[in-house]
Amino acid sequence: MNSHEHERAMELITQRNVEGIGENDDRWLETHLDGCAECAGFALAISDAEQALRSITVMASAALVASTRARVQARAAQLREHESRRLLIGVSFCLGVLTSTISAWAWWKFGGWVAQWLGLPASIVEPGVFLFWLLPAIVIAVLMVAIPPSAFEGSLTQGYMRDRLRGMQ
Ligand SMILES: [Zn+2]
Repeated sequence: MNSHEHERAMELITQRNVEGIGENDDRWLETHLDGCAECAGFALAISDAEQALRSITVMASAALVASTRARVQARAAQLREHESRRLLIGVSFCLGVLTSTISAWAWWKFGGWVAQWLGLPASIVEPGVFLFWLLPAIVIAVLMVAIPPSAFEGSLTQGYMRDRLRGMQ
């Protein structure tokens, strides 16, 4: 065996792992490796290195999957937060409509009597309905501005989210 053959063998070993080699080259290489410990050792080292590289790739993609999953979970939590905020706004809205209706109805029913009792003209009753219809919405709006949002988040939103998270586990 001459040095040219070892060189050819090492070239083929490298090529085999990168782009593959032809059948004839492969047969020649296997024959050479059977009779040459040095080149066989090189082939083994190359294949070990290749395996190490593959496992690094696998680890990298595992880390990528983990970070992607974390990002997806963060996004899901964000969406749940939005959802619970929408729920809060929805509840406030329904509460507002309900109390507005009740208060406007009460004024419509008893406003004339109250106006008479207070010595106010009867013409105040009709426009007064709009005032009493708007009043609860104004009160709720003032309360929502006055109460810090953390008070809502601390009770309703987080309680809601805790329940949702418990449901997911
Ligand atoms: Zn050799």
